[in-house]
Amino acid sequence: MIKQSLLNPEQAVFRQTVGAGDYFIHTVKQGQVFRILDLEGNQAADTLFYSAADTSERYSAMDTIREQSNLYLTAGSILKTNENNDLLEVVADTCGRHDTVGGACATESNTVRYDLEKRCMHACRDSWMLAIQEHEEYGLSKADITHNINFFMNVPVTAEGGLTFEDGISGAGKYVELKALMDVVVLISNCPQLNNPCNGYNPTPIEVLVWG
Ligand SMILES: [Zn+2]
Repeated sequence: MIKQSLLNPEQAVFRQTVGAGDYFIHTVKQGQVFRILDLEGNQAADTLFYSAADTSERYSAMDTIREQSNLYLTAGSILKTNENNDLLEVVADTCGRHDTVGGACATESNTVRYDLEKRCMHACRDSWMLAIQEHEEYGLSKADITHNINFFMNVPVTAEGGLTFEDGISGAGKYVELKALMDVVVLISNCPQLNNPCNGYNPTPIEVLVWG
């Protein structure tokens, strides 16, 4: 569902550009709204969310899908935690669909899906691991790297239940905006994947903006 935002980027209290293949980690306070902006188009932002008060409570794909009775995320979606609490609400979306089924890329999945020689390529799981290692203050460990959301990624499910990674439906300037319903740690891998169309075979920067 396409829903525009009324928020003015010039009034944002925080803005950060995240380079192609880089990570982003930041705490968003309850009531704040943040936007992930696809600056150049066709860029997947592989994202994990945690309750800042207790990071063992985190985004849960299965609870979210069950509660909204839909596989895709868009404006109106309430993201649920593994304790079935409300974590975030998608309040604006100019892309229209985001995946939470396909999972994030890892060196292991690159090896299985593409080629043994792809093992040394950058992957989202490594970016998350680097983030939690370089930011010990969040108290996150390897066990906290669980299922995620792929913002801007197009993973349609076929009538037969099949899963395919398709060319992106995002474009330059498209964005998704979420309101924090509790204090939330946001951990993004700006996906470096080069072996499938999730980044249009050309990873590019995103920008994160926060209001409130
Ligand atoms: Zn990735």
